[in-house]
Amino acid sequence: MHEAIRQWARRNHRDRWKRMSTCRQARQILDQPSESHRSTCCQLRRNEIHQLISVVTGHSTLKGHLHRMGLIADPTCDLCGNEVEDRNHFLCRCDALCLQRLTIFGAATMEPCYLSEIPLRLNLEFIKKSKRFDKDTGGLIRKLKLNLESLKWALLA
Ligand SMILES: [Zn+2]
Repeated sequence: MHEAIRQWARRNHRDRWKRMSTCRQARQILDQPSESHRSTCCQLRRNEIHQLISVVTGHSTLKGHLHRMGLIADPTCDLCGNEVEDRNHFLCRCDALCLQRLTIFGAATMEPCYLSEIPLRLNLEFIKKSKRFDKDTGGLIRKLKLNLESLKWALLA
């Protein structure tokens, strides 16, 4: 009986996650709620989960988001100078991070549609190796409202 209720809840949870029209960036990486995602996140330190969630949800200190929030004038990536530094540029295309991407993901660049195939722990490894968030100040982070709603559905599988 308990197992039947648990399966019903998980199925309901999965269906609701797929029907949501919000959390577009998070759903691109987290295609469905999963025990694996929950397990990975439960093993992380506080600062690691903060970095991972902020990048996964697109609510990070990447310049594209800061520009959208009205906090900076120029959203262009400081590392390569080629385009707006949004989540997909950072994880998939930034020329300055090709070596780290090749080493960790096995490809120098990739299409965002493949992000859901990358395990969360590898995304975190890439975030750390990029050193992109090492210089973030507490002030900028406090100005951002981290949207934990995006991961709530994935973690409560
Ligand atoms: Zn770049």
